[in-house]
Amino acid sequence: MLVSGLPGLIGSGVTLRRQQMRWDDYNAYMSLEDDAPITDEGQTAASSGGMAVQITGLRFRYPGVERETIRGVDLTITAGSRVALVGDNGAGKSTLVKLLAGLYAPTGGEVVWKDGSGRRLMGVAEGGGLSAVFQDFAKLYISVREHTAIGRLDALADDAALHEALRLAGSKPYDLDVQLGAMFGGFEPSGGEWQKLVTARALLRDSGFVFFDEPTAALDPLAEKEAFEMFMEVTAGRTALLVTHRLGAAKLADSIIVLQDGTVAEQGTHEQLMALGGVYSRMFRLQSSWYE
Ligand code: ATP
Repeated sequence: MLVSGLPGLIGSGVTLRRQQMRWDDYNAYMSLEDDAPITDEGQTAASSGGMAVQITGLRFRYPGVERETIRGVDLTITAGSRVALVGDNGAGKSTLVKLLAGLYAPTGGEVVWKDGSGRRLMGVAEGGGLSAVFQDFAKLYISVREHTAIGRLDALADDAALHEALRLAGSKPYDLDVQLGAMFGGFEPSGGEWQKLVTARALLRDSGFVFFDEPTAALDPLAEKEAFEMFMEVTAGRTALLVTHRLGAAKLADSIIVLQDGTVAEQGTHEQLMALGGVYSRMFRLQSSWYE
């Protein structure tokens, strides 16, 4: 799985110490099933039409924290759908995404991955079947080429594929061999540019499920609008889960999940949730009136 921030992928020692600490955190929560193979059959089916995921009674408590952060989540995300995950700060959105991505082991419940035909897939998170762009991605001071091809080393020399992934991510057209990081005499991307580089890396992978955790947090409003258009374009035919606070973007998704205090409060299309008149409709009205 491509996870922005794994220390094994770090190209220089400068950020290693900080990343190593983060890795230790991840390690403490992770439990990998080494004997869970992905069949070629399942993998092909998964990447062509997107994967589905069925979540039952999912629970999670951070070590040392008394209260559970995820408190019994039941959800089904169908193959090929684009789903927005919204909710207040601290509702548990990032935690839920990390659980689904296999970075944390649930303290209860089950996550089952399926292909478009409903066949169960084993070892998806461990076997590279997922792509993720997390808020807390690591800055890897390597070349743009290496940065983009992490997780798909077969594409390292495929300039056309690398440029296409960068274009889809809304990134500027880099010289692929440019070194990243001013401290290494290279180019220093801004926060938004880093985010696009990380997004390009996730898009290069032909995975059946893509997580975007606040991919537009560092973007200016115009770039943000373009990013959402890009999100809809590049996720066509895949399954995608987008964590966002921008309800104007969530509105575009096929389905919206509202997480509140570690449980699913509401789920449906924008129209359904507006008609419901509950927490989503209140959040949406508040945000629209603010923008107006
Ligand atoms: P936001 O919208 O602010 O990004 P979120 O919905 O993504 O919030 P999480 O980041 O999942 O929420 O956090 C949910 C809760 O879990 C918060 O109370 C947070 O303080 C707590 N939490 C997050 N990470 C850890 C951790 N590593 N250890 C202990 N508690 C944590």
